[in-house]
Amino acid sequence: KSGKCEEIILKHSYRNKSVILDLTSEVADQFRSVAVQRERTPVHEGGSAVSARLRSESEQAQFIAYQFRKAHLIDGVQWREMAVIVRSPGATAQAIRRAFAHSGVPVSNANEALVSNSAIAPILLLAKMATSSAPISINDCQKLILSELGGGDAISLRRIRRALLSEQEQGHGDEVGGKKFTSAELIVKAIDTGEVSIEGGAPLLRIADLLEKARSANKAKGAQAEDLLWAIWDNALSESGEKLSLLWQRTAVRGGNRGAMADRDLDAMMQLFDAARRHAERFPYSRPSSFIDEILRSEILGDVITTKGQRPDVVEILTVHSAKGREWDLVAVAGLQDGAWPNLRQRGSLLGSERLVEMQRHSVYARQELEELAASGLAQDERRLLYVALSRAKSSLVVSAVQREDDEPSRFFDDIDSYLNGEISEERRITEVPRPLTESALVAQLRREVHFGQVQPVREKAAGILQRLAQSGIAGADVESWLGVAPMSTTAPIVSDGEKVRVSPSALYTFDECGLRWFLESSGGRDGDSSAQSFGNAIHGLAEKLAKEPDQNFTSLKDLLNRSWSLIDSNSGWISRTEFDRAVGVLERVVNYHNQAILERPTIYAEARFRVEVENVIISGSVDRLEIAADGKALVVDFKTSKSAISPKDVAGHMQMRAYQLGVTEREFFIEEDDETGSSGVKKKTPIELTGETLGASLLYVGTDHAKIPDRDQGPLTESDQSEVIALAKEMGGSTFTATVNKNCQFCAVSTSCPLQIEGRTVIG
Ligand code: SF4
Repeated sequence: KSGKCEEIILKHSYRNKSVILDLTSEVADQFRSVAVQRERTPVHEGGSAVSARLRSESEQAQFIAYQFRKAHLIDGVQWREMAVIVRSPGATAQAIRRAFAHSGVPVSNANEALVSNSAIAPILLLAKMATSSAPISINDCQKLILSELGGGDAISLRRIRRALLSEQEQGHGDEVGGKKFTSAELIVKAIDTGEVSIEGGAPLLRIADLLEKARSANKAKGAQAEDLLWAIWDNALSESGEKLSLLWQRTAVRGGNRGAMADRDLDAMMQLFDAARRHAERFPYSRPSSFIDEILRSEILGDVITTKGQRPDVVEILTVHSAKGREWDLVAVAGLQDGAWPNLRQRGSLLGSERLVEMQRHSVYARQELEELAASGLAQDERRLLYVALSRAKSSLVVSAVQREDDEPSRFFDDIDSYLNGEISEERRITEVPRPLTESALVAQLRREVHFGQVQPVREKAAGILQRLAQSGIAGADVESWLGVAPMSTTAPIVSDGEKVRVSPSALYTFDECGLRWFLESSGGRDGDSSAQSFGNAIHGLAEKLAKEPDQNFTSLKDLLNRSWSLIDSNSGWISRTEFDRAVGVLERVVNYHNQAILERPTIYAEARFRVEVENVIISGSVDRLEIAADGKALVVDFKTSKSAISPKDVAGHMQMRAYQLGVTEREFFIEEDDETGSSGVKKKTPIELTGETLGASLLYVGTDHAKIPDRDQGPLTESDQSEVIALAKEMGGSTFTATVNKNCQFCAVSTSCPLQIEGRTVIG
């Protein structure tokens, strides 16, 4: 219809308070088409806007986390009324997500699918196993054993494999028609049937038990996905036998980083149940498998608006494009970096779409001119995005950027900074990040004051506050729980007066390298046998057989190795075959060495034992080989199956080899055998005749694949060497054990308890 339209100009801003409106108007004034601007007056006065220039992404994230916690705790702003806006997803958003997790700021998981949540994934995997008719795969079994549901780790998995194989070998396990199962097949079978009788099989049992419960929940008449998930969730047990659901709750209540993670995992679990319920409402007659398949396939997002239409009370981190049309009380616009925001890189450089637009808009055809116009157009678009981001804030705005040598704030940030704080000086003002508004940070500050404070009344006040916090059960506030406060439980030596210090040659070597490592490992800090150790034990066993049984040769020993390989190596497929080939190579070198050595030193004792008692010290052990020449002089030989040799200069002071030589010089070697019937358990000891003269000791590195076996020879033991061995052994009965950094620290099993290592810094003493 014809007629005049009345133009109504809206002159009031209902969203932005005056401070924010002024700032956004300033940004809008820079738009190229100023004609579209209009004067608006704010309905609400006040508001706040701050700009912050930080030293790093991480400081920027901590600063924003501080502002958000302050707004929530002091000003009572709800989490859902706060948002962080970034130009595009990337490092800034990730750093902020991490900082929020550490500071206890709840953040939406909008970008994380439930199926990718590491706590939820095993539950879904088990549910899938229970609902699927496909055979169970070893990969899935391993994932479950290593998950929180199984509570196992790589070492326990290896032990389980070995125990299952050994059980099969002894005839208690499965063996059908002479066919032996691999360790992978035995694991799958144990989980599938629930028949687990091996020692250390608790992780297997936990998974098998859960699978059985999940299967019966799935089979029940009218079962829904919720019932299946509940059967898993309610029956899942931790390593200590506690219900996983209760453990997570307890950890969440305790706070700190772990608490925050447990909190997020519990949230994710709730969302999973919520998603299952919604699925059941949509498809009332569906089976649990349809939900499990859908969630695994479609990657349902963790953050969903509930059916009540309420957004969960969490902070959102989102890009400027997804923030359009929305508003929050407090908004942080982060990452205004040069090159990132404004991002002036041409988007359609292949087809030159920006140039085409400018060509149409300005009727200009010269390429150079078009490029300039396109760049200016991009800058305007970026400024509009900035305007969108800033104007999402109703009451408070935080604008931040990182200032460092290779990463400068953009001119957008500088403009806002100078608008809010006046002209920027040459010396850029860096914002210091305040102490986080968390319990743990407050406790840390008070403790620092009590320890190092110089002003007595302030220290006393800090101690008083700590005491009150401790009474309220705040973690870390109670002095009794402080590290290093408890007195030493004992300063007594580990071997009391009148007792003997009993040591082995290998312990002497470890103690010589690092006293603390020896002490902790011999007090239970050592891992179980690794596969490298099993490999070494097997080779040593074959070498002993070779020395003791004259009819043995390379072929017979290789056959024996082949027959027992499944017990030695827990790997399968090509890894196992490669290891077997290596073992055969090592065996061949041992046999070659033996055939040569027997010509030079015809009397050979394998696994000969010795026991030397000097003053209050007893050193005892066994050597791989004791080779005696025609003149009665003895050579100690130790086979090493590692792939690399120690340096020649280190062998001179090698304490293990010196201890062996001490057995020769003291003529204390003997052969130990079962008594005639072999039933009494008592060993018969036959002394080895020695002259007391030694040819020295030799370390043979048969594990390396050199044509000539690398050897490291130690010269004959001198009197001063003997005294050093005895003195070192005496120290092992003392009360103080010193940590000494050495080249084997990287393999140390107790480094987390070592005050010299970063991972063990919390250890005192
Ligand atoms: S990490 Fe090194 S210094 Fe520390 S206990 Fe282990 S071996 Fe000793």
